[in-house]
Amino acid sequence: MTSRARQNSFTQTHPKDRRARHAPRVFVAALLLAEACGPAATDGAKTPTVSAAPAQAPAPVIHVVTGSTAGLSVNGYLVEGRAGVVAVDSALTVSDGKALRARLDAIGKPLLAVLLTHGHPDHYNGVSALVAGRSDVPVYATAAVSRVIREYDAKKEAQWKPMFGAEWPMTRTFPNHELEAGATLEIDGLKWTVRGVGPGESHADTYWVLEAAKRYAFVGDIVLHGEHAYVADGHTTAWLGTLHRLHDDLANVSTLYPGHGAAGGRELLDWEEEYLTAYRAEVDHLRQGATISEADKKVLESKMKERYPKAGLEFMIALGADAEAAELAGSHGPNPLQAGGSK
Ligand SMILES: [Zn+2]
Repeated sequence: MTSRARQNSFTQTHPKDRRARHAPRVFVAALLLAEACGPAATDGAKTPTVSAAPAQAPAPVIHVVTGSTAGLSVNGYLVEGRAGVVAVDSALTVSDGKALRARLDAIGKPLLAVLLTHGHPDHYNGVSALVAGRSDVPVYATAAVSRVIREYDAKKEAQWKPMFGAEWPMTRTFPNHELEAGATLEIDGLKWTVRGVGPGESHADTYWVLEAAKRYAFVGDIVLHGEHAYVADGHTTAWLGTLHRLHDDLANVSTLYPGHGAAGGRELLDWEEEYLTAYRAEVDHLRQGATISEADKKVLESKMKERYPKAGLEFMIALGADAEAAELAGSHGPNPLQAGGSK
C-alpha cells in the first residue's frame, strides 16, 4: 500500500487564535482527568478549562503515512496544525521510520508531540526517527501503555530482531510523559483526549480523540481495517467487548483512523468484530482443549485466507492460534456478545 495524504475539507470560519502565536510550543491545558469519576460524574466536572473550544479550533491536516509491507503496513499519522505537527504512532522498521521523518520534515513545521495508542513495536519503533535531534519533544502515553512498552521491549527485540536484522531500530524511544486514561492535552490549539479501554489487541489499548471543528478518533489496533489481526496477546474476548462499547462511545466522532488499513466511520468497528468472531469460531472448531496442532493451523490459515482473500498480514493467522485456543478454553464460547457476555 502506498503512502497517501488526506486533507480534511472543512474550513476555518473563526478569527485566528492570537494566544496560540504567543504560547509555548506545547501548552498542556489540563491533565489528570481520570475516567475513574464514574458514570455519575457530570460532564462539567470532567471537562477541562481550555480556552480554545472545539468550534474555534483550526482545521488540521491529517497526513497518513503507511509503512511498507515488511513494516506491517502500519499507519503513522502526522496531524498538521497551525504551528506544528502532532504524530500519532509511528513505524516499525528503520526504513519506514526514515520515510516518516522525511514526511514530517517536508511539512516544514516543528514536531510538537508524539502520542502513542498502545505498546506494540510497529507503533513505537519509529519514534526514535521522529524525535532524532529533538530531545525536547514530549512522547505521551497512558501509564498502562508505557508500562507495557517498558516491560516487553527487550522481549520483542529478542523475538523479532533476528527476522528484521538491521531494519530493527538499534534504540527505541519510550514515553517520557505518562497520563491517566481520560486526560486531555491542548496542543497547538487542538484538544486531544486519551481513552483507556484495557486489554484487547495489546495488553493495554487506548485511543486518542482529536477535537477540532469535527471529532476524530485515532483508534490504534482496536481496528486493523481489512487486515488479519494480531491476537497473540490473548484478549479477544475483552477486545470484542471494547468494539461493542465503542459504537456508543464514538457516536459523535466523524472519522476513525485505524492502526492498519483505511480510515472510515464506525463500520470499521463492525469489520473488526466480524473478523474476530470468525477467527474465534474457526479456532474453536479446530482446537483440542487449549491447544491447536500445527496441521490445524494450516487449516485455519486456508479458511481465513478464503474468507478474507484481500487481507494482508497473513502470517498473523497462525501466529495467534495458540493464544486464541488457550483463551477460548478458558472462556464461554467464540462470541461473548452473542453468549450474553456484553455487560
Ligand atoms: Zn499494529
